[in-house]
Amino acid sequence: MSGGQRGARKRRAAIVGAGFGGLGAAIRLQQQGLMDFEIFERGASAGGVWRANTYPGAGCDVPSHYYSLSFAPGHRWSRRFAPQTEILDYLKGLVDEFGLAPHLHLNTEVTSAQFDQARGLWTVETGDGQSREFDVLITACGQLTNPTIPALPGLEQFAGESFHSAYWNRDVALAGKRVAVIGTGASAIQFVPEIAPQVGHLDIYQRSASWILPKPDRSYPEWERKLFRRFPLRVAAARAGFFAAYDLLTYAFTGNRMAGNVIRKLADGYRNYALKGRADLIDKMTPHYDIGCKRLLLTNDWYPALRRDNVALHHGKLQGITANGVIGPDGVERAVDVIIWGTGFDTGGFVAPMKIRGADGRELNEVWGDRPEAFLGTSVTGFPNLFVLYGPNTNHGSASIPYVEECQIRLMIDAVKRLHEGGYRYLDVKPESQARWRAEIERRSEKTTWVAGGCSSWYLNQDGVNTHNWPGEWIEFRRRTNAVDPRDYRFVA
Ligand code: NAP
Repeated sequence: MSGGQRGARKRRAAIVGAGFGGLGAAIRLQQQGLMDFEIFERGASAGGVWRANTYPGAGCDVPSHYYSLSFAPGHRWSRRFAPQTEILDYLKGLVDEFGLAPHLHLNTEVTSAQFDQARGLWTVETGDGQSREFDVLITACGQLTNPTIPALPGLEQFAGESFHSAYWNRDVALAGKRVAVIGTGASAIQFVPEIAPQVGHLDIYQRSASWILPKPDRSYPEWERKLFRRFPLRVAAARAGFFAAYDLLTYAFTGNRMAGNVIRKLADGYRNYALKGRADLIDKMTPHYDIGCKRLLLTNDWYPALRRDNVALHHGKLQGITANGVIGPDGVERAVDVIIWGTGFDTGGFVAPMKIRGADGRELNEVWGDRPEAFLGTSVTGFPNLFVLYGPNTNHGSASIPYVEECQIRLMIDAVKRLHEGGYRYLDVKPESQARWRAEIERRSEKTTWVAGGCSSWYLNQDGVNTHNWPGEWIEFRRRTNAVDPRDYRFVA
């Protein structure tokens, strides 16, 4: 065996998912040229979460020049925070720009993958019954891909129309209808202001209030877009500025009280200003937990939507669903024609429902149970040559996820280079390195707002352990994922 060739064969990587992570990994592998790759996408096009979530008002609350891949900055963003349609166009555009189409299997769900230790190969099975062999497995499935609807009493009785925000049903006309929205997270605060003017009446059911800041959005005039196009340094400067601004939130979220208080005061001031004269709404919209504990929301439209005459905000624990409507926290049943669930995603699995079996045949979801962990958020001991993009402890609540995935892709590319140069079959993170990482995450999470902030969120598991967020600055994460440290991995020839 020599170099990048194993026998006469070039090594191959399977990439699961064609969102930011999957496409970014493919582009980097292509540029590096050491490995062939195939991308498997269960949806009908590339785009990941931006293909799936098409609800009215969908967009990103991280500035687009930062929320994009540094090695593919060519898109012509129309505004600072681009809408979903532009982000989807950007991602589909990457497929054309980098000639990825021949590598892309659409409507093809990876159902399982099994590592054969003797041959150092992953056998990947897809929903169409096919099975293929790869040297490297890269999962890039996102953390927010499996929508959930809570099992409320009476749920199945509802006789009207209902759908989840991630499966927006445009066949259901909302004009003039009585509509209930359940959940007030990042998705709901984007679609509620869009539908509120159309519907007859809107009942919003909120279990807990969110911390909210105004969104410093603006459109880019043509001259500024030209500037971005012609001067890559202008894009780099914008990225650096946004990176610094967003990383400030890191201090607030990871235990710096002063930074937390500054953001808290801004949010309090904005609430009081935007809801002036509506003490009832101010009361319901005041969170009783630390800022950042649940996702901090950026919006200019949510408070104005709540002030509308045809909108009612019901705060507290929902009592149930009936054939005709919703029983609110006050015990009153309110009839509605349509229920829209803005109730988020099942975020526990990372790679579920795929069944990934490692060197000793154990299945990753079972190994993880309720406590997923991965060294540098990327490598799992016993699962050689597996790279989990946007894996455990790589989220934050203030970061650009494409940036995070770029860090992980850099690590993966360095690993592939080392396999190539050393003629190794695989590398496997050492159990002691992963254990050290886990202990570090636990220790550093203790004083974060996610763990100590007095709320429950999808960042934590049932036992309150931080399984999702990186409890540090992103500059540190970038440094630590810059290259594989051979002391942390076992290389097998
Ligand atoms: P989410 O943030 O998880 O919000 C779910 C909402 O449903 C919360 O208000 C939650 O209340 C409520 N809920 C859940 N179960 C409930 C129950 N049994 N009874 C009543 N209410 C219930 O979901 P999401 O809004 O879809 O957003 C998910 C994530 O996607 C976000 O955290 C964010 O990371 C990402 N996202 C990002 C953007 C962006 O602009 N970048 C936009 C949309 C989404 P509690 O708060 O009390 O739990």
